[in-house]
Amino acid sequence: MKTGIATVSISGNLDEKLEAIAAAGFEGIEIFEQDFIADMRSPREIGDLIRSYGLEILLFQPFRDFEGLPEPLRGRAFDRARHKFDLMAELGAPLILVCSSVHPEALGGIDRAAADFSALGDIAAERGLKVGYEALAWGRHVNDHRDAWEIVRRADHAAVGLILDSFHTLARRIDPDTIRRIHGDKIFFVQLADAPMIEMDLLYWSRHFRNMPGEGDLAVTSFMRAVSATGYDGPVSLEIFNDQFRGGPPKAIARDGHRSIITLLDDVRRLETGAIAGLPVLPARVRINGVEFIEFAAFGEDRDRLAGLLESMGFQRSGRHISKDVDLWTQGSIRIVVNADQDGFARTFWNANGIGVCDRGLKVSSVADANSRAMALGAEPFSQPLGPGELDIPAIRGVGGGVMHFIDDESGLAKVWSAEFKPLKTPDGSGAGLEEIDHIAETMSYDEMLSWTLFHSSIFDMHPAPMLDVIDPDGLVRSQAVATPDGRYRLTLNGAETHRTLAGQFLAGSLGSSVQHIAFRSGDIFATASELAARGFEALEMPGNYYDDLSARFALGRDLLNRLQAANVLYDEDDAGAYFQLYGRPFQNGLFFEIVERRDGYSGYGAPNAPFRIAAQKRLVSVKGLPRA
Ligand code: MG
Ligand code: MG
Repeated sequence: MKTGIATVSISGNLDEKLEAIAAAGFEGIEIFEQDFIADMRSPREIGDLIRSYGLEILLFQPFRDFEGLPEPLRGRAFDRARHKFDLMAELGAPLILVCSSVHPEALGGIDRAAADFSALGDIAAERGLKVGYEALAWGRHVNDHRDAWEIVRRADHAAVGLILDSFHTLARRIDPDTIRRIHGDKIFFVQLADAPMIEMDLLYWSRHFRNMPGEGDLAVTSFMRAVSATGYDGPVSLEIFNDQFRGGPPKAIARDGHRSIITLLDDVRRLETGAIAGLPVLPARVRINGVEFIEFAAFGEDRDRLAGLLESMGFQRSGRHISKDVDLWTQGSIRIVVNADQDGFARTFWNANGIGVCDRGLKVSSVADANSRAMALGAEPFSQPLGPGELDIPAIRGVGGGVMHFIDDESGLAKVWSAEFKPLKTPDGSGAGLEEIDHIAETMSYDEMLSWTLFHSSIFDMHPAPMLDVIDPDGLVRSQAVATPDGRYRLTLNGAETHRTLAGQFLAGSLGSSVQHIAFRSGDIFATASELAARGFEALEMPGNYYDDLSARFALGRDLLNRLQAANVLYDEDDAGAYFQLYGRPFQNGLFFEIVERRDGYSGYGAPNAPFRIAAQKRLVSVKGLPRA
């Protein structure tokens, strides 16, 4: 099964598009008329250019308003078609997409349209070309793939087939299982697109809000399962009209597209028994069983401040690297690595971003599978020279240029702590009750959010929650949580659209570094809060108004409210349980720590509290993102 993408899905000029599409691993393209009308080269030269990138022209599109016209419009439509067929011969394009007519004078009637397609099939066949018919969701007489299929069936011509487009079927809420009744050999081409579920005009929705399979809310997997069940094994191609992608970096958009299509086909292979052969075979989505470590690049005074902060939260410096300027801090099952080594990735990261999280270790079900699935989905491998006695742990690049290492039990990589670190002292269990990492909050520009959500949900067994808007006094921040089903690895991805928001300031100040806060979980937030206060941890002070509002929103006793306020603890509830949050002050570059307690299966992240947290932090942070003196 060949993979393709429509040139219209990617930004740039034709050469930039082709380079990005080929680099991402696609086998072919759908060429849009506009792409070569705007080009100075002849159709033949453009065809050769496309093939020089190792890409095949799978489809020429679009051809509009063809079927059902009265004379003399009908004759003119056939003349236009002959002209396009000449052009296709020059380009080397085998198949044309004819979309259902929106012409005001087009007449209805399945047989009339079938007769037009039969006649068009004769003209195409003389030149060795084929014609595919697609039902637009807003077509004048044909707006349902079942009607388009009936026209193709009655045209009964070897050169005339059906084109299916997941958007047109799913946007009109047509049951995709109706595709199972179509003959696979009469489907000539399949286009895929997803979209967020929004109630709006179909044409506007389609032209501006399509996105990659897996990035939206449409049942694209069910659609593709049904297609696969017909025995169809022709091209599967992305046709994405999206304002954001049109302005995005071509290589990243093409890579996301390829990642989404390979993930989808792999899902289909797993779900649809008897799915056609030739689908990509990858290991299943990788299970993440938790965070093995978080590593900071921190040099000079920043390292000392971070060390002081970790101490004030009850961490102990329990290990020292055998050959590098690297410390291991621990508490509960949490490991924080503080890297101040002059030769290595941490230094490079520091030079670019300043203090920040440069690396993390993920406990995965299988390192080999994690690595092979990540590579098949276009993740960027990471490696650096090993020092004496160091273990070779597979790694990839994650958000903001940070690194993700994979660790499992079987491969012995979890021995890294005893192999590479000499113990400084035996942890005496006298911490502040922090047990594990609850979640990691990453900040990025809004344009990158879909991309990183797809990264996590395609490589790992992680699922996005609905996107939330968080109100910053100076703008909007979008927040997208992505988590494993058991919550052992939780991320919140925050997209900033303006540099005036706290998230935007963090992005500007940290030069693209992404982890803005880390939340540790405590089993008893009040015990932890008093332990932290005794150690000199500076909690973010919450205003009295916040607690007045809490008492109005939730039925909390006066005692609990007083305890919350005395400890600056924030509170939230969902259908299942309760959530308690204690924020530290931003300490450098806008970074901060959070302590949370989850009771009775609360599954959120305290989003209703975020505006109050942001306002409180902004009182402390100067416009440059640095702590106020
Ligand atoms: Mg289409
Ligand atoms: Mg948080």
